[in-house]
This record gives sequence, C-alpha cells and structure tokens, in this order.
Amino acid sequence: MSFFRTRPRALLVYPPVYDFALFDLFLKPFGLLRVESWLGGAGWDTRCVNALDYEDEASAAVLGKPKRGNFGTGKFFREGSREGEWGRLFGRRFSRYGIVQGAFEKRLASAFAHTGGAPDVVLVSSGMTYWYAGVREAVRSCRSLFPKTPIAVGGIYASLLPGHCAASCGPDAVIAGDSSSALGDFLGRLGLPVPAGEYPDSPRREAASVLKDAAILRLSRGCPYSCDYCASRVLFPRFSSAGPDAAFESFRVFREAGILNFAFYDDALLVNKEKVFLPFLERVISCTEKNDERPRFFLPNAVHINEIDSRTAFLMKRSGFQEVRMGFESSSPRFHAEHTPGGAKFEPRLFSETVRLLREAGFPSRALIAYVLAGLPGQRAQEAEASLRAARASGARVQVSEFSPVPGSPLWEKAVSLSRYPLAEEPLYQNNSIFPLEWEGFTQSDLQRLKELARSPL
Ligand code: SF4
Repeated sequence: MSFFRTRPRALLVYPPVYDFALFDLFLKPFGLLRVESWLGGAGWDTRCVNALDYEDEASAAVLGKPKRGNFGTGKFFREGSREGEWGRLFGRRFSRYGIVQGAFEKRLASAFAHTGGAPDVVLVSSGMTYWYAGVREAVRSCRSLFPKTPIAVGGIYASLLPGHCAASCGPDAVIAGDSSSALGDFLGRLGLPVPAGEYPDSPRREAASVLKDAAILRLSRGCPYSCDYCASRVLFPRFSSAGPDAAFESFRVFREAGILNFAFYDDALLVNKEKVFLPFLERVISCTEKNDERPRFFLPNAVHINEIDSRTAFLMKRSGFQEVRMGFESSSPRFHAEHTPGGAKFEPRLFSETVRLLREAGFPSRALIAYVLAGLPGQRAQEAEASLRAARASGARVQVSEFSPVPGSPLWEKAVSLSRYPLAEEPLYQNNSIFPLEWEGFTQSDLQRLKELARSPL
C-alpha cells in the first residue's frame, strides 16, 4: 500500500430493500464484507452500516421487533402499504425492508464521528436488479450527509445493469464484476491507497458483529455449467475453487466468535467435492464432534443432485447439515437438454435413488427440498406440475422456484420478447413476484395451484 497521511476511511453500506416480500434466508452482505476485509487487512479504517440489521432498537421502537427463527433466519423490519406507485399497480403491498430511514441516516452520519470527519469513500452494495430503489436511497442519503465524498456502487445489480445503475442511482462510479481491479482503479484515481491482490474469499472476524447469528461460507466461485436462465456465468465467467483450508479457517474464526449457523453461498458446492468440500467436512467433524454446541449448516442455494453419493450424504449429516436443498428444476430430460448446454446436470429418473441415500444417511424427508423451476419463457404449467409431482413422488419436499429474467443471460432476449412487461426498460419488472413471463399456458392461478400443491403434506 502506498503512503497516506492518515488511515484512509471507507464507509461500506448495505442498502434497504424495496419488494413485495422478503424473508431472511441467510441474506447477508457477504460481498461487501469481503471488500471490507480487503481494505481493512491493508490498514484502512472501515465501518459497515447494514440497513437490514434486524436488531436495531430505534426501528423496533417504531415498528416492533421482527419475528426471527431459531437458526438465523426470519423477518426483517418492514414498512409499506398498497398505496405506493408499485403497490397500486399490482394491487399488492410493496414494502421497504430495513431499519427506519432516520436510524439508517443516523448510523451513516455517526460511522466516522469519532474521527471528526467524513469518510474518504463510500461503497454501496447492491443485490437483485429490481431492488435498485434501496440502492438509490442509500446513495442519496450518503450524498446529502457527505456531499464531498466520492460514492461507488458495486454488487449484482451494478454488474448486471451498470448503465441503469449510473443513471438511476447517481454514484460517482459503478463497479462491475467480482474482481478487485475496477475498485482498485477507482481508489487509485481518487489518490487513495489500493490494497494488493484480489478480494479475500472470506470476511474478517470483525464482521461477526454484522453477521450476528449466521455466517456465510463460500468454497468456490461460479459454476461449470451454463444453464441459460442462470446468473452464475454472467457474474462469474469461470468456475474456480480454493482449497479447503481457507474455508475451514473462516469457519473456525466465526465459530470462535460464537456463531453456530453457517450458510453456503456456493453455486456449485459439490463440484470438485473430493478436493474441497469433503476434506472441509472431515475437518469440521474432527474438530466439533465432541463439542456440546455443534455447528449447523444450511444451503440457501441448491446443490447438484448428480454429485450426491453415499459418502457425501453421510459426511453432510454427520457434520451438522440441517437440510439438503437440491436443484431438481424439471423431470423432463428435454428441459435439461434445452436449458443446460453441454449435457444434463442429472438424470431425473435417478432422483429417488439420491433421496434414498440421503434418508439412509439420516436426513428425514422434511429436510430434503427439491427446487422445481416455474415460469420460464414459454414454459407450460403442465410441465412444471409433472416435475413437481415427480420430485414429491421420490420422497422430497418441493419448493417452486420462480424464474427471474437475468439481464445478460442467454435466455434474457427471449424473456424480453415474450414478457408483457417492458423488462429491458424497467428492472422492477424483472421481479419474479409479479410473474413477468405469465401467459395463457401458465397463469398466476396455475402458479398459485402449484405452490399450494408444493406446500401440501407429502
Ligand atoms: S447448474 Fe445451477 S448454478 Fe450452475 S449454471 Fe445451472 S442453474 Fe446456475
């Protein structure tokens, strides 16, 4: 790092979310905390403001405490009504999720009050494209509090729609992609010191206060498959995995910080499992098996079904996995041939064998969840229903996974041409909550019927 007169100061901001619904299934500012680790490890003074903090006392005094579950999941603070523009348009409640605006701005303003100055740079994170209203709010709040401080936006929305982000949110820079080079260039242009290397794969121990009751682990980036409906290839052009040591170190650090719940953010956790995932699990087992408080592992992203063998199932159960979410997508081999170039991810007819292996390892049926895709451009409801029934018949629970059009993905142009909404003009229409690819062969009532079927007892 080059010489700088004092420790440079970065304010890292995770914005509020505007949506029809939002449940916390391990939604954490993982990317932002990796950037924090990159800067903090190089001597920067960093502060992180998380608008989705569910423990904020000032917000609880206004809105009441959000209901939380046992394992680090649950509800966020929410305020909203059907009266806003989007609520009126769809006849549904459109809410702002996160700490109340006054508390949010107070936290931003006070982040560097101890130094008597403004931050040298503000870095705002972004998630889904259709959540941009929260990013815009965060940028505006920071701009009014720190008018002279440069502001950059990074993350998924910034990477998928950099032009829209620049025009709608008004930052000084949009940082696209997962590499540190674009942010490094921006800091360099400001005359600020640039840390060496790429963003670390894990946050630092200091992040425990932001993560609270669940930490995030990621053993790999991207996915070797290239399904045409998926964002993975767009965000991570190449699949790569680190060794098990870094992930274990991250697990150890946050376990020692008192965290018991761990969620994996990998898109392809089980790919290359002999080298990374299984050795990681063996180390976890050898270090934790005799402890009273065992860690609990979760999979908000599904894993590849064809990678589950008896050893994997056994080690997952023994190490503390509470559930196994799997990417079933469809029971139709034609569906997989059409949407996954280079070969199907698994043979749907063999799924019941996978369920049997997992049951034998000790997972009850209620802990086995198959994601079935619904609402792809031109998809018929009958195809999704047949898939849902086939997955249930194998003994797994089913969750309907509604398609969201992803800008830049191979299926994007087809989605734009078939949707009744102007997807390319307005990211809010990319929200799967409004069923952007509804058509007479797959209607809202079909979707509701499938969701009810998925919820019915096995
Ligand atoms: S296998 Fe899963 S993560 Fe990989 S490209 Fe397909 S949908 Fe995306």
